[in-house]
Amino acid sequence: RAGTSYVGRFAPSPTGLLHAGSLVAALASWLDARAHGGRWLVRIEDADTERCQPGLGEQILAQLAAFGLRPDEEPIWQTQRSARYEQALQQLVAQGLAYPCGCTRREIDEALAAQGLGHTRHGERVYPGTCRNGLHGKRARAWRFATWQRPGRIDWHDRRLGEQVQDVAQAVGDFVLRRADGPWAYQLAVVVDDADQGITHVVRGEDLADNTPRQILLQRALGLPTPQYLHTPLVLAADGQKLSKQNGAQALDTQSSAGIVAALQAAVHALGLPAPPAGNSPQDLLAGCIGAWAALYNPAP
Ligand code: GLU
Repeated sequence: RAGTSYVGRFAPSPTGLLHAGSLVAALASWLDARAHGGRWLVRIEDADTERCQPGLGEQILAQLAAFGLRPDEEPIWQTQRSARYEQALQQLVAQGLAYPCGCTRREIDEALAAQGLGHTRHGERVYPGTCRNGLHGKRARAWRFATWQRPGRIDWHDRRLGEQVQDVAQAVGDFVLRRADGPWAYQLAVVVDDADQGITHVVRGEDLADNTPRQILLQRALGLPTPQYLHTPLVLAADGQKLSKQNGAQALDTQSSAGIVAALQAAVHALGLPAPPAGNSPQDLLAGCIGAWAALYNPAP
């Protein structure tokens, strides 16, 4: 399979150290790149400066290296890239696809309640469209994507989950591209970065699957290519919830080689791959999984 122009990536947010769940996404994206004879890049998604902690990006890169997961190029950092996000936002504004919104959370809640509407299942608010026709003297608090200007229904294919469909206008509404207090929203940054890095294949956790239609909508609006997507099984915490720092996801032990191998074995298991032989070094273990990954997720046609 060598010679393809495959480019994959792992894009952690430095809001915490790698845990068992994020290692699964890192491993899966690495295995997919190797199975395709492609390149594997890392991007530190520190655009949301309020949630990110200084120094954590470097620590995540060190953790990845301890697991034998080394990017094929220098990692990029979203905090270095605001000029590109600004360009993309201006492109959308010029097309009439982005508009300023002056609503507070409370005003959005009140407008939704007045229409007898509530929140989506993720607790996100479907923006009721109050500022579509102008700020009416209010101060801009955010830039939103004008979903009603585009066909909202996105049909897309996931390599593991199969055919997917979401009407973005109905399911999420006019989502935020930038908050007026500065930080760029994940949706805009991820789309610009995937395109600029030439990403052909996105492999990431299933919790992000329902962001994909928003990203495809943005790619189409900005004239950018859509990568192929594969969303990996989630590692659940003991309480059945998504593993997160809040419900006790532990930072992975990268101090001992036994800890490193055990964490990799758990990630391999979570991906549904056969257990690699015991007692391997991280490098041997990783190399030993590429064939099984290809057989399961990338079978020859
Ligand atoms: N930075 C996102 C996260 O850590 C992942 C983004 C992506 O893979 O698209 O949840």
